[in-house]
Amino acid sequence: MRNLKFNVAPQTGREEQHISKAIETGRICGDGVYTKQCNQWIEEHTGAAGAYLTTSCTQALEMAALMADIHPGDEVILPSYTFVSTANAFALRGAQLVFVDIRPDTNNIDENLIEDAITEKTRAIVPVHYAGVGCEMDTIMEIAERHHLIVVEDAAQGVCASYKGRALGSIGDFGCFSFHETKNYSMGEGGAILIRDPEKTDAAEIIREKGTDRSRFLRGQVDKYSWVSIGSSYLPSDINAAYLWPQLEDAEVINQARLACWDAYYEQLQPLQERGLVDLPVIPEECQHNAHMFYVKVADIEQRSALIAHLKENGVSAVFHYVPLHSATAGRKYGRFHGEDRFTTKESERLLRLPMYYGLTEDDVSYVAEMIRGFFD
Ligand SMILES: *Cc1c(COP(=O)(O)O)cnc(C)c1O
Repeated sequence: MRNLKFNVAPQTGREEQHISKAIETGRICGDGVYTKQCNQWIEEHTGAAGAYLTTSCTQALEMAALMADIHPGDEVILPSYTFVSTANAFALRGAQLVFVDIRPDTNNIDENLIEDAITEKTRAIVPVHYAGVGCEMDTIMEIAERHHLIVVEDAAQGVCASYKGRALGSIGDFGCFSFHETKNYSMGEGGAILIRDPEKTDAAEIIREKGTDRSRFLRGQVDKYSWVSIGSSYLPSDINAAYLWPQLEDAEVINQARLACWDAYYEQLQPLQERGLVDLPVIPEECQHNAHMFYVKVADIEQRSALIAHLKENGVSAVFHYVPLHSATAGRKYGRFHGEDRFTTKESERLLRLPMYYGLTEDDVSYVAEMIRGFFD
C-alpha cells in the first residue's frame, strides 16, 4: 500500500546553496539581493509595475487593504468560499464584509451577482482565484470602473496562472500571492503584493517599510528618512527569499510537472464523470490554470466522508477546506451574505482535494484514481 501525503512542499535541491550565499552577503534583513531578484522576477513574469515580497499572502492582503485606504464602515465584496485571510485583511480596517455566492463550475465569485451587492458604502471587490483558475476579470473590472471601486485580487493560489493571457494578480489594482509551503512555490511562509499602477509603487514601498521613506533614502533620493504614513513591517528576511529563488528559476518545470499530474487525474477520473458519479474541475476557455489543486465533487457531505475514509484506508490523504465564512462566528460578526446561498455551502460540502504536489508521479495519480474508481464500484 502507498502512503501518499496530500501536500509536500516544493524543493529544487538548490535551496541550501542559495541560503548559504544569502548569509555570505552579510545582509539577511529585508530587501537584500535575493528579495530584489524575486521582486524583479515577479514583475517581469506578470507585468506588474511593482512587486514586493511580503512575509505571507495574509500580510500582502493587509497591505492591499491599507493601500486601498479602507475605513471603518466601508463595504467590501468578496466570496464566502475562501480562506479567512481574504476577509480578515478588510475586517481589520473596520470594513463590513459583503459575501456573494460562487459559481458552481469554478467555485469563484459569481461575477453576475456582484453589482446587486453594491451600495453607496462599497469601496472594493476582492475576487479570489480558486485553485489558480481565474475569475471572470473583464466583467469584474468593468463593474469596478463603473462604480469607482478598487479591485484586490486574492491570487494566493494563482501564481503563474493567467486570464486572457494576463497574469493573475496583475489585473486588479492590487494582487496578492502566497508562497506558503502548501502553494505551488514556497519560501515556508511568504507572499508578494503586486501593484498595477506605477504611480502607486512609492506608497507600497512606504507602507511595507513601517510607513517610512527608507527605500527612497537607500536609493539616495532623500537625505534622511522619516515617518510619512501608517504602515507596518511586511519584509521577509533575505534568507527566505533565497529559498524561494531557485523555485522561481524552475517555475516552468514545476508548473509543467503539476499540469501533467492534473491532466492525468482528469483523464483517469473522466469515466466517473461520464457516469454522473463525480464532477471534475472546469477550466473556462479564457483561463490558463496552474494545477494548484485537483479536486472532485461528490454527491454530498456523507459521501465525501465515506470517500475520505476509503482513501485513508488505502494510504491516501485527501482533504477539504473552507467552512463558508458567512456561517462562521467571525463571519456573522463582520459580514453579511448578500442574496441567496445557492452554491457556496452546497459546493463546499461536496468538494474533496486529492494529493497534488511537485514530485507526485503519474503512477501515484493512477493509484489514487484507481482507489476512487474502486470506491464507486
Ligand atoms: C493560502 C491562502 C491565503 C493565505 O496565504 P498565506 O501566505 O498563508 O498567508 C489567502 N488566500 C487564499 C485564497 C489562500 O489559498
